[in-house]
Amino acid sequence: MLSRLLLQSATCYRRLPNACYFAPQLSAPVSPAPSPSITRFFSSSSSSQIPNSSFVEHVGDEEDQTTSPPTAAISVDRSGLYNPPEHSHAPSSDSELIKHLKSIIKFRGGPISVAEYMEEVLTNPKAGFYINRDVFGAEGDFITSPEVSQMFGEMVGVWAMCLWEQMGQPNKVNLVELGPGRGTLMADLLRGASKFKNFTESLHIHMVECSPTLQKLQHSNLKCKYEDNMDDKMNKRNVSTLAGTPVTWHAALEQIPSGSPTIIIAHEFYDALPVHQFQRVSHGWCEKMVDLAEDSLFRFVLSPQPTPAKLYLMKRSKWAATEEIAKLDHIEVCPKAMELTQTIAKRIGSDGGGALIIDYGMDAVVSDSLQAIRQHKFVNILDDPGSADLSAYVDFASIRHSAEEASGDVSIHGPITQSQFLGSLGINFRVEALLQNCTDEQAESLRTGYWRLVGEGEAPFWEGPDEQVPIGMGTLYLAMTIVNKRQGVPVPFK
Ligand code: SAH
Repeated sequence: MLSRLLLQSATCYRRLPNACYFAPQLSAPVSPAPSPSITRFFSSSSSSQIPNSSFVEHVGDEEDQTTSPPTAAISVDRSGLYNPPEHSHAPSSDSELIKHLKSIIKFRGGPISVAEYMEEVLTNPKAGFYINRDVFGAEGDFITSPEVSQMFGEMVGVWAMCLWEQMGQPNKVNLVELGPGRGTLMADLLRGASKFKNFTESLHIHMVECSPTLQKLQHSNLKCKYEDNMDDKMNKRNVSTLAGTPVTWHAALEQIPSGSPTIIIAHEFYDALPVHQFQRVSHGWCEKMVDLAEDSLFRFVLSPQPTPAKLYLMKRSKWAATEEIAKLDHIEVCPKAMELTQTIAKRIGSDGGGALIIDYGMDAVVSDSLQAIRQHKFVNILDDPGSADLSAYVDFASIRHSAEEASGDVSIHGPITQSQFLGSLGINFRVEALLQNCTDEQAESLRTGYWRLVGEGEAPFWEGPDEQVPIGMGTLYLAMTIVNKRQGVPVPFK
């Protein structure tokens, strides 16, 4: 029987072209348990060299026979001058972002890295994919675990409470979420934890979000009120009425004041960080770049010379066995993930606390994983940039090495599968508790949501349309933690 509460339109997880649904909110107590210096490129899809003829051509002036000859006998030799491409003032149908990307490539006089392309496409302050709209859910482009079921945020809340206990129940803790999307995870976490006053009263929530639109949505979903601040009479502050906790928004982790123990949650944040892509050719590794194509669209090309990002490829390769690299023809590296991890590890190492990273990915070098999803379907990465989500597999091994390199005061645990993580924290008990007190429709939705979070492959109990069969994310998604060594091994990584 299909639940009427479930949305019927096909949606897909961030990574899976599959149907999925929203779960209704149920309540029951939660138990705590330098730009590339490249002059010539060749297409990545072929090994033959194709000159990049879209711009930077040195051509001689054609004499215009239709105009009268100049009156003074001065001739200017323009043969060596830069001749800009044809320029028209006719309105173009290109989006803001496409125009911007084209102008960067033209201004640079050469292609841009896949990482720069990805960063502009996702987070360009004016027209980036995330910046001006809600991209989640059935009406959006993809769906994530917190949107699948309230149990996800609740279980992350159980993890945070357990860690807080292990930290010695400090009375002032920064609870940081990186890339909170709609704010659903944090809302479910606070709702679930609201009965544990000692915990919630210790919290100051910090949301790290680049999108003004999503910040507003988070403010609304956390049911924030702007009210007087007892500690600082001069400044009012936002307080989430879900658990009476103050909430502050930031554009980057570095902006959050240090000095207090910190718990950091990064769910599907790392996969949105820009990756550089490399391809093996006869003379070594070349970086894949994005260039303008003849038809004025975009195309991939390979850099014939080493690019600055090659340093990160070398760094990543040192952390891998020679045989692991030898069998790959493509490699992705994510310098931003390395830098973010270092910032996290240093903060956790000095201030205490821990970070939880949940994402899809692997505990190994990532090969060629970058993908684009628009309205729940995989599309071409270069097609209409800004209208589709771009994301890449997370390299958990690189996160581990970056954290170890950054601080001797942290320990790294995992990755374990999402299924192990949620199972050990008691999601089975939680689903049972919720099933005690719900309608048939809600029960259907709970079972489906449960399967999506912890199951593997297609749900065996599904009786609805084939194209909407729930696919389990239980083993595709992995959980890793970075904690201050003082606290010992956190639940459930023991
Ligand atoms: N964690 C949420 C959303 C994941 S999508 C969930 O699981 O539902 C990625 C989120 O990170 C979005 O909120 C996006 O706006 C934000 N984001 C992406 N890149 C960012 C950056 N460089 N700085 C801050 N926020 C970023």
